[in-house]
Amino acid sequence: MFLAVGVATSLLMVGLVVWLSRRRLSLLGELATAIRRREFIVHYQPIIDLQTGACVGAEALVRWRRPNGETVRPDIFIPLAEENGLIEPITHQVIEIVVAELKDLLAADRSAHIAVNLSAQDIQSGRFLPFMATLLEAAGVRPDQLWLEATERGFIDAKLARVTLEKARQSGHAVAIDDFGTGYSSLQYLQDLPLDALKIDKSFVDTIGIDSATSTITPHIIDIAKSLGLSVVAEGVERQEQADYLAQRGVHYAQGWLFSRPLPKAEFVAFYRRQSNGPI
Ligand code: C2E
Ligand code: MG
Ligand code: MG
Ligand code: MG
Repeated sequence: MFLAVGVATSLLMVGLVVWLSRRRLSLLGELATAIRRREFIVHYQPIIDLQTGACVGAEALVRWRRPNGETVRPDIFIPLAEENGLIEPITHQVIEIVVAELKDLLAADRSAHIAVNLSAQDIQSGRFLPFMATLLEAAGVRPDQLWLEATERGFIDAKLARVTLEKARQSGHAVAIDDFGTGYSSLQYLQDLPLDALKIDKSFVDTIGIDSATSTITPHIIDIAKSLGLSVVAEGVERQEQADYLAQRGVHYAQGWLFSRPLPKAEFVAFYRRQSNGPI
């Protein structure tokens, strides 16, 4: 009896693994087609100045809109693209979309910015830099309106990362370390790499107000970032209590569902216009 149940469970597991890998394989084929057909769109999640409540820009978050109307989340297709050498063309398409939309998104006379996410391969190759420079110049967009976000996974080769990030800053972009606290040897990167901002990962924000080992670390991350002169951005802020705590600790910026979900372009523009001087 137990043996039969065991065998049935194992068969189910094997079936599931086969089904999942088939789905990944077919998704991979479709992803290559999606790149050719330019099936990506960008949503913008507002970034809020915690001291004034003003919207100071947004993070650009890619979505894959399949011809059948289904929207695939980046959590699913970005890792697939990264593992299969397909991420650079996606990054380039995101940059193209953001640069094309930037003049509609932000008022040119303000210090607002849009932040774009980079993957390890982008940072290792640095190919996105000349591509982006040409687009920005043609569109007449100021480089300081485009920030770059890189996670620690992008720093596998720290020397190459330093070269790319240095070039990016020389071109006028600000660079943020993303998902901070989720990788390892993080403090070394903070010392060695040319950075302007640090984004505290949602997992640290989640534990604010909850007694745990993680919540005791959060204020120290904030203090270290500030003592290194970095702007601090908190991600995944969902509760007012978290925003109050972060503001009181001197965190400069935040994003999260408390303020807004990532929005399609037109909805972001309306949000930004409403809130570019602070809350109504
Ligand atoms: P990320 O860069 O850390 O982006 C923040 C993610 O947290 C976004 O998920 C955002 O929608 C979500 N988020 C923001 N506020 C809240 C909140 O209050 N609660 C919760 N539960 N979630 C919140 P999204 O859009 O699904 O993107 C996931 C990840 O995919 C991003 O994490 C980033 O690593 C990657 N990604 C997105 N767009 C791009 C891109 O254009 N290029 C690359 N290389 N990666 C991208
Ligand atoms: Mg990011
Ligand atoms: Mg992040
Ligand atoms: Mg994150």
